[in-house]
Amino acid sequence: MSDVRIIGILGGGQLGRMLSAAASRLGLRCHIYEPCAAPAADVAYRLTNAPYEDEAALRAFAESVDVVTYEFENVPTSALDLIESIVPIRPNRRALAVSQDRLTEKTFLNEIGLTTAPFADVPDQAALAGALAGIGAPSILKTRRLGYDGKGQVRIADAAVAEWTGAPSVLEGFVDFTAEISVIVARGMDGQVAAFDPGLNVHQGGILRSTTVPCGLPGRVTTDAVLIAARIAAALDYVGVMGVELFVTPQGLVVNEIAPRVHNSGHWTQAGCAVDQFEQHIRAVAGLPLGDGKRYADVVMENLIGDDLARLPDLLRAPDVQVHLYGKGEARAGRKMGHVNRITR
Ligand code: AMP
Repeated sequence: MSDVRIIGILGGGQLGRMLSAAASRLGLRCHIYEPCAAPAADVAYRLTNAPYEDEAALRAFAESVDVVTYEFENVPTSALDLIESIVPIRPNRRALAVSQDRLTEKTFLNEIGLTTAPFADVPDQAALAGALAGIGAPSILKTRRLGYDGKGQVRIADAAVAEWTGAPSVLEGFVDFTAEISVIVARGMDGQVAAFDPGLNVHQGGILRSTTVPCGLPGRVTTDAVLIAARIAAALDYVGVMGVELFVTPQGLVVNEIAPRVHNSGHWTQAGCAVDQFEQHIRAVAGLPLGDGKRYADVVMENLIGDDLARLPDLLRAPDVQVHLYGKGEARAGRKMGHVNRITR
């Protein structure tokens, strides 16, 4: 059905770990490439522990696998170029390029007719005053690249006292949203699309705290959200699972950002669906048919961050709770150590 036997994964964090576990259930092997500590290596077939600048290691990695995917979108372009000269990368380079840079991302989303926060390019500190004159306050200044979990962001309440991020940025108008939701959508090599139900997300300090399904919003909103995600996937000729984060406003849905990979807000699918987001991604990049995304349970996913791990004994005793731990050593503040999926119905 598919010639793929070994999948290369760039990045060895918890997403790579859960992708490897899902691949093994389908009889496939994963080879992880990770420069630092790799929780994924515990459950993977092979690990290459080398920097993204090590051409010999990258070449050997690419030659040992049938396809390469990633759990982390900030892989250097030079590493991707080398890998792609040897083996296909899925999702494709365009999806990566668009989502690596907030300016490119927002421009692309507007070009395909989707609404984003109003934004302005702020290449350097000197350009900030002009951007603020157009966008106004409150607003959020975000670095174009390498921001995640709220890092690289400055909230501007008063245009007169705006801090600088220190790197090329975009200034975004503040969206007065009523809720934050996300859609996890998958697209197969044949163009087949399957979406999971949108989840309601709660963030704290820029980090995802919980995702709840069903999200409690009217059907017209959830249908719109799924159609938006499918439109993005089709426009990128995407193969794999993608997370699309949206703000719900009285005027309609506003796309916040896209992640070209499995997404934290899709972890609930492990307890809610026959084929979870990890298996769905593996199926897509391996050229296998997708699961249909149907949800069988109501689920609340909660991240275990830092010393949340102290609650582990209670969580393990609680009924209807699925515990996932990532095997990371030290429970530092803000570090995602695991998550729980609580089946609520
Ligand atoms: P991001 O890194 O872009 O996902 O931003 C992290 C969180 O900051 C989001 O989940 C929102 O809660 C909040 N946020 C980001 N951008 C905006 C915006 N333009 N307006 C209002 N809140 C925002």
